[in-house]
Amino acid sequence: MSSSHSPEKFDIAIVGGGPSGRIAALALVQQGLSCVLIAPSANREDGRTTALWQRSIDLLRDIGVWSAIEGSAEALKKMRMIDSTGRLFRAPEVVFDCSELGLEEFGFNILNSELNVVLEKACAAQSGLEVISDTVKTAEFGDERATLFTSGGRTISARLAVAADGRRSTLREAAGIEVKRWSYPQVAVVLNLEHRLPHQQISTEFHAATGPFTLVPLPGRQSSLVCVETAEGAANLLAMTQEELEAELERRAHSILGSFKLASKPQSFPLAGLTATSLVGPRLALVGETAHVFPPIGAQGLNLSLRDIRDLTTVVAAATRSHADIGAAALLASYEKKRFSDIRSRTNAVDVLNRSLLTEFLPVQAARSAGMYLTGKVGPLRRILMREGLAPGTAFQLHR
Ligand SMILES: Cc1cc2nc3c(=O)[nH]c(=O)nc-3n(C[C@H](O)[C@H](O)[C@H](O)COP(=O)(O)OP(=O)(O)OC[C@H]3O[C@@H](n4cnc5c(N)ncnc54)[C@H](O)[C@@H]3O)c2cc1C
Repeated sequence: MSSSHSPEKFDIAIVGGGPSGRIAALALVQQGLSCVLIAPSANREDGRTTALWQRSIDLLRDIGVWSAIEGSAEALKKMRMIDSTGRLFRAPEVVFDCSELGLEEFGFNILNSELNVVLEKACAAQSGLEVISDTVKTAEFGDERATLFTSGGRTISARLAVAADGRRSTLREAAGIEVKRWSYPQVAVVLNLEHRLPHQQISTEFHAATGPFTLVPLPGRQSSLVCVETAEGAANLLAMTQEELEAELERRAHSILGSFKLASKPQSFPLAGLTATSLVGPRLALVGETAHVFPPIGAQGLNLSLRDIRDLTTVVAAATRSHADIGAAALLASYEKKRFSDIRSRTNAVDVLNRSLLTEFLPVQAARSAGMYLTGKVGPLRRILMREGLAPGTAFQLHR
């Protein structure tokens, strides 16, 4: 595709206005490179919350946005898993406590709408970062540069393009990177609740036969809920009156937080999975949901994306320091190598956990129950799982 305009030149072009795109833009521009972010306005309608673990919070701190988010985030100090399947093999309750790892908290739960607005403001105020409020229509990837054509008619040329344009990525498609997609027979119903009793900074995941029902603390007497249901079950919940829904959710939560009042409109998200067959192409790196999507179980999705961004920033910063080419194939290959096993292990773990809840096959139910039993009883195993849940490769470290 040709353009009558001469292209605007940058070191890096980041594409996508979700959290991955904006956080990547801030992290990369702070390496002293000229960057452009091509992104539509932030999503203010996203009613979800995101639980971010300590290393993700560290990244938000490093890029200078944490102090603006902290006040509306709630610390997560304990995580409780309760078998609510009602099956023959029921697992005992397991509690993960951050104090067992010597931590103040595992992480924080943040409203997505709040996070998006803070990130949008930070990008607008960041020197060295040009923000173009637009979408990319198509892209070409040459040996020396990537060229992006926006819907508004601008042409951007960069030594490296970073695709954070989500699961239906235009850049990934333009580069010919294939994806493996799969779906689950479930829908996540998401909303926020006010409750009568304090949550005591404990996140509770009930393992129900249709999927997890997870209450995650928010500031005050509020929690966010992710209720994974069959498509029919989700439709039934969404068709209820407010009073009916509040009573049904309280029943499913075994009244552990007392009575409920809805604090947001319910939203629904069909569960799906996706992995890109490659994380890089010529002059292109993929981050976030452009590269990997999986069900909202165990709060892993954006945490994994932030590790993509951390690793990409590390290799780009090293290349910048040594005056090397930031979009060279060898550099991109090293980024892909760093990310490969983390992405594969997270995707598989979430998939197995979800399927083990859905299965009617007794030996799998028994194995899941035995696993939870051992986790509850054996401290070192519990600590390994906690560390591995927070960050890969830290399970066998003795100290933080
Ligand atoms: C119910 C639910 C609960 C979740 N809870 C958690 C949690 O607790 N912890 C956690 O870590 N993760 C969680 N996740 C996962 C997390 O929400 C996602 O990983 C995250 O939102 C993905 O962000 P992203 O920026 O990669 O993608 P997106 O948010 O999809 O952003 C993509 C962006 O690209 C833009 N775009 C698309 N096409 C173009 C184009 N051509 N040009 C320019 N821009 C374009 C879009 O407008 C959008 O702004 C949850 C997910 C769900 C569904």
